[in-house]
Amino acid sequence: AAEEGFDLEDVEGAIEAAGHGPLPVLAVVGRPNVGKSTLVNRIIGRREAVVEDKPGVTRDRVTYEAEWAGRRFKVVDTGGWEQDVLGIDASVAAQAEYAIEAADAVVFVVDAKVGATDTDEAVVRLLRKAGKPVVLCANKVDGPSAEADAAYLWSLGLGEPHPVSALHGRGTGDMLDKVLEALPEAPAQTFGTAVGGPRRVALIGRPNVGKSSLLNKVAGEERVVVNELAGTTRDPVDELIELGGKTWKFVDTAGIRKRVHLQQGADYYASLRTAAAVEKAEVAVVLIDAADSISVQDQRIVTMAVEAGRALVLAYNKWDTLDEERRYYLEREIETELGQVAWAPRVNVSAQTGRHMEKLVPAIETALAGWETRVPTGRLNAFLGELVAAHPHPVRGGKQPRILFGTQAGTKPPRFVLFASGFIEAGYRRFIERRLREEFGFEGTPIHISVRVRE
Ligand code: GDP
Ligand code: GDP
Repeated sequence: AAEEGFDLEDVEGAIEAAGHGPLPVLAVVGRPNVGKSTLVNRIIGRREAVVEDKPGVTRDRVTYEAEWAGRRFKVVDTGGWEQDVLGIDASVAAQAEYAIEAADAVVFVVDAKVGATDTDEAVVRLLRKAGKPVVLCANKVDGPSAEADAAYLWSLGLGEPHPVSALHGRGTGDMLDKVLEALPEAPAQTFGTAVGGPRRVALIGRPNVGKSSLLNKVAGEERVVVNELAGTTRDPVDELIELGGKTWKFVDTAGIRKRVHLQQGADYYASLRTAAAVEKAEVAVVLIDAADSISVQDQRIVTMAVEAGRALVLAYNKWDTLDEERRYYLEREIETELGQVAWAPRVNVSAQTGRHMEKLVPAIETALAGWETRVPTGRLNAFLGELVAAHPHPVRGGKQPRILFGTQAGTKPPRFVLFASGFIEAGYRRFIERRLREEFGFEGTPIHISVRVRE
């Protein structure tokens, strides 16, 4: 490394930063208007999680990446929901439950100016039951005179209330220090795989694509309910299902089976549920209704899985209903609308007739294998050397940036760091990704490539 002009420490730092693997998840929960979205904005240091005053606005972005004191994690914002027909307690409980299920730690936000309400107490009960680490945020403590309000929140029995002003940033640093103490280094779920537990599958897709039909078809009567959190409007449930001679854990299947009919905020619930399922899973099977046009919603769901860094399988359902013409147009749509995930294994199934059900498991296994692939550094560099010699980066400003060497920093999904002598253009990065896929497979997995440029 040194002879190429990189400091060894730089190289090691870059590899460590790129190789983090799945990030732990922090959920921010609480009643409406306590300041959750404002706090999420603080945490992610952006103005992105919009603080919305308009009701009924569709929010499909619910998870964000954040970093504090050099540690990275994901934040799930539950601020985008509406009170609905279920009434306020049930609505708060439902949204909190999704988020808590997917989280490794929780920030529970209470409005210190208002104090603890019955709804807050209801969330506390959920938090107790879930048993996840909780940091209690006493928000809207805008100045020292309001600190006394925060102290009342000891009564919630969740330990020390941390006085914060999400709006002005007061106290958020101290609170985030506590959050880091509560958050594990890696999501708890990844340890499950290390000891050979069942692989975790999220079956996702927009309403009516056939998720519950497919689940019933593959599970038959043998479904086993693994864990049931009873008592609220819906229960996140993981089910163990025997498929292809193996046991798989289908996560968050209650959201599939029991349809929660919501008049408002239904899209938001659906997004939150999908995000939660994806976070808990290793591989996402995105079900698409082949009889219907591929929609923006289908693309969003695929993007969620890809951005979360999960292995991906695309299952085109309702194949039994397709005629010649629809099949023709479907292929065109797949090319234009889902061309960016052409690397995902594809199965054409019918949940109704059972067509090609036996192909689902091999597709899932292929995607997981791609997700876990590790390319030895020697092989990678032999490949990079040949590639760069045969297809050099275009000359820019009289200089030719070169990839000097690279390494795979992590798996699940594969993450690469390339070290270069100058700025590498996006087009060339995509070219390298394409060639990496041709050479090493990576079927069914997103891959991350970061480039370090020599100073
Ligand atoms: P959410 O519904 O829990 O996501 O709450 P929002 O983040 O949308 O905030 C609700 C309202 O409380 C907004 O008008 C915010 O500006 C306000 N707010 C949030 N945090 C604070 C704070 O720390 N101090 C004060 N005074 N107001 C705040
Ligand atoms: P979900 O909302 O994604 O869980 O979708 P459902 O499983 O409730 O299915 C929605 C509708 O599509 C139902 O009327 C199903 O009977 C129908 N459906 C599901 N899969 C198939 C299929 O493979 N072929 C046909 N023809 N209909 C299907």
